[in-house]
This record gives sequence, C-alpha cells and structure tokens, in this order.
Amino acid sequence: MPQHCAAYFCANRRTIASRTRGITFHKFPKDKHVRKKWEVALRRDGFTASDSSVLCCEHFKQSDLDKTGQIVRLRDGVIPSVFSFPVHLQKLERLMKVKCSPKTQKKK
Ligand SMILES: [Zn+2]
Repeated sequence: MPQHCAAYFCANRRTIASRTRGITFHKFPKDKHVRKKWEVALRRDGFTASDSSVLCCEHFKQSDLDKTGQIVRLRDGVIPSVFSFPVHLQKLERLMKVKCSPKTQKKK
C-alpha cells in the first residue's frame, strides 16, 4: 500500500506519479517532543503518528526544506505549517495568531 500523507484534506500519496511531480514525503521525527508538535500542527483529533506516518512536502515552507543534496530533507526541528483546514479551524488559527505570533515570526 502506498504511503499516504497524514495531513487533513491532503490526498497526496507516495506514488511514482507524485514523485514525478516533485512531491517528497517525510517521516515524522523520532524526537518525541518534535513529533508531538507535528501532531498538534496537523490538528487531527486523536491522531498519533506511527513510525510509518509521513507528511508530504506541501506542508512545509520552502525554507524548511533542504534541497541541496540528492534527496530533499527537512531541516532540523522543522514543524509543518502549511495546511488547508476547514473554515472553522482556520478561524481558530487566525485568533491564535493574533494572540501569540510576534515572537515566532522571523523575517529576514
Ligand atoms: Zn500532504
């Protein structure tokens, strides 16, 4: 069975077709704390990542990906941040951003 991206509303699977489209899949981090952050970022109720869970590259910012090598890697400690959530969850996100963003937003 092809691996499926674990993100909400994402239909990407690990297939030859997705590979030719340049979609890469990334396993959940082994580090418990970082993995927890990924699970929280996904916002799927009751979801727990397994060792075979993957996310596709569409949920990461370009700057989170290291494309210098032959395979695309994630930079250390990166948290997925690009999701298309249902509307009610997006509203929640906006509220949360207002409350707690200034510190976490870094601009070059
Ligand atoms: Zn995905």
